[in-house]
Amino acid sequence: MPNIAVLNGRLMPLSRAMVSVEDRGYTFGDGVYEVVRVYRGAPFLLREHLERFTRSAEAIGLPLTPPPAGWERWVKQAITASRYDEAKIYFSFTRGVAPREHAFPVSPKPTRLITVRPLAPPSPASHDPHRGVRVVTMPDLRWGRCDIKSLNLLPNILAKQAAKQRGAFEAVLVRPGVGVTEGASSNVFAVLRDGTVRTPPAGPTILTGVTREAVIAVARRGGVTVVEAPLDLDTVGAAAELFLTGTLTEIAPITRWDDRVVGDGRPGPVTRRLMEQFLAWIEARLAAVSSGRSAVRSRRR
Ligand code: PMP
Repeated sequence: MPNIAVLNGRLMPLSRAMVSVEDRGYTFGDGVYEVVRVYRGAPFLLREHLERFTRSAEAIGLPLTPPPAGWERWVKQAITASRYDEAKIYFSFTRGVAPREHAFPVSPKPTRLITVRPLAPPSPASHDPHRGVRVVTMPDLRWGRCDIKSLNLLPNILAKQAAKQRGAFEAVLVRPGVGVTEGASSNVFAVLRDGTVRTPPAGPTILTGVTREAVIAVARRGGVTVVEAPLDLDTVGAAAELFLTGTLTEIAPITRWDDRVVGDGRPGPVTRRLMEQFLAWIEARLAAVSSGRSAVRSRRR
């Protein structure tokens, strides 16, 4: 099968999936979305992504339908049809097709979309423990509810494009009076000189990354103290190590921050250890999922 879509519950080749020009996702960005990583045919942390999807949908006054179990079924159908082992799944839920009026339609018919595309092997920058990525800082021009994973991504894409034009992997957003919030499509962590790890707190100024949560848990299990507290630029300037997290980024060490070389210009020991522990944790989860699947298969026999 080629790239796959499930549009309003119907499985089809991605090239055949069409939505009306009057869809409010198109006219207003009136909807929410998620991106899930597939490792070896298994959607990773799908429940966690669906929980956030549910929260985002509720926050824009559009309760998720069908409930997460329905989306889970569609996602699994789409992966099976695609036969991709390594893939990225995108799903969106919009307030549907209606004449263009700002206020909500009286009885909205949401548009539900899932797409599956193969994932190119991850860039060596994020996986080679001897290399890292460059970030540039930009003003955070977004609204006051960055915790909602909404389709309105204009400030994020403008920042990402400006970063790309400057040869950087990511734009790190800085909000006056708050400090570093997050990347255009990632969360930001600092390793302080005393070995503690700090990341900006959950709240309306960041998207609470599913990977962020997982990395915090893995770090704490490994005995690292993780503090969720504001990250001002002085703290960043004094940090020993810095890194990004995200579904597709996993953990990417930052070795250049604007014009500053971080540490000795190579990923530091705490980040490298976390990358190893995070990959080991992914492996363990995948093994648990596949042994669960074979247990189900043998019970069915
Ligand atoms: N912040 C923003 C603004 C993002 O777009 C993303 C990517 N979805 C993240 C953080 C990281 O979130 P996650 O780990 O859930 O991919």
